[in-house]
Amino acid sequence: MKPANSVLSGYGTTVFEVMSRLAMEHQSINLGQGFPDEDGPEDVRRAAADALMAGPNQYPPMLGLPELRQAVAAHAKHHYGLDVDWQNEVMAASGATEVLTGCMMGLIEPGDEVVLIEPLYDCYLPIIRRAGGVPKMVRVEPPNWTLPRADLEAAFSDRTKLILLNNPMNPAAKVFADDELSFIAELVMRYDTYAVCDEVYEHIAFDGRGHTPLITLPGMRDRCVRIGSAGKTFSLTGWKVGYATAAPELLAPIAKAHQFVTFTTPPNLQKAVAFGLGKDDAYFRGLSNDMQAKRDRFGAGLSRIGFDVIDCQGTYFITADFRPLGFEGDDVEFCRHITVEAGVTAVPVSAFYLENGPSHFVRFCFCKKDQVLDAAIERLEAFFGKS
Ligand code: PMP
Ligand code: GLN
Repeated sequence: MKPANSVLSGYGTTVFEVMSRLAMEHQSINLGQGFPDEDGPEDVRRAAADALMAGPNQYPPMLGLPELRQAVAAHAKHHYGLDVDWQNEVMAASGATEVLTGCMMGLIEPGDEVVLIEPLYDCYLPIIRRAGGVPKMVRVEPPNWTLPRADLEAAFSDRTKLILLNNPMNPAAKVFADDELSFIAELVMRYDTYAVCDEVYEHIAFDGRGHTPLITLPGMRDRCVRIGSAGKTFSLTGWKVGYATAAPELLAPIAKAHQFVTFTTPPNLQKAVAFGLGKDDAYFRGLSNDMQAKRDRFGAGLSRIGFDVIDCQGTYFITADFRPLGFEGDDVEFCRHITVEAGVTAVPVSAFYLENGPSHFVRFCFCKKDQVLDAAIERLEAFFGKS
């Protein structure tokens, strides 16, 4: 038989799936894959249920229902002061992942270079490579994850087509500082490139940090694709509703990809997300406050056990160095070890690197009920306390 595509067949099953399966096998508390254990707002779910029954349940417009596109534009104006033309600058899609895939399919010519910042979310490299892009990697390093400006500058060249920026950043839980964003914007302009901005955690930033979309910086309005996800903003990760905002010339090629991939997204979910995006400030503040309280609760527990916990500025995730616990193996072994022996699952941070990433950090997901977080800490405390 002739071989399948070599880029994708070179990848195994994602670390999230592997660890979730292992967690199930061992009845372990799954703090690996990032999903909340409580579904998002009841009124948003009710809106989806009502729309499902009322119909129509036929193909919505390719770019998304007008009411969702209007809601994305209104949300951008309300939260970031950004004026968006909903008819020409907004597209709904089946998750941020589909928008990202559309960006890579629509913008990259084989051989184009794409600047990426490690550690990075796992779908970035496969879709870039499948599109023929050549990744140029830059690393932020724990514990501060500061942007290494000279390295970033060196990664840009005339061959650069775009930078893919994830802010707030999974798994580093970093929120980029304003001066770092300005530096990135300056490079994007100097090299006449684009920025694809994965901002799915825009409403999960802590300690009073606001989120600044790169697209709001001077010179960036026509060069950025801003991506959001209802999965994160409404704690409904299974819905897979994402949205892109970009200048018309930039959105058009992405929409071309979208029309040949999924073409559209379930209409009842689009309606419900449109409703959700119009929620008052208290909802969005509540989301980040709740997550911040969970971070504090769980992070304090990890520190008590002896993990060296890295500062967490946003997202669902907290990263910890397990070396102080005296474990001899690497991060993959550690995750397997605590799943099987302690009944708590995390994911190895090395999985978020192209190669040769650090091997002594693990990522825990804390968007879980307090009693689940407490039970995980109790299990880890009991295990490491006695070993
Ligand atoms: N980007 C990042 C950084 C993520 O962590 C995730 C995980 N949910 C996604 C994109 C995917 O979002 P969606 O489920 O909307 O496709
Ligand atoms: N975004 C989630 C995470 O980082 C995982 C999504 C997935 O399983 N593909 O854990």
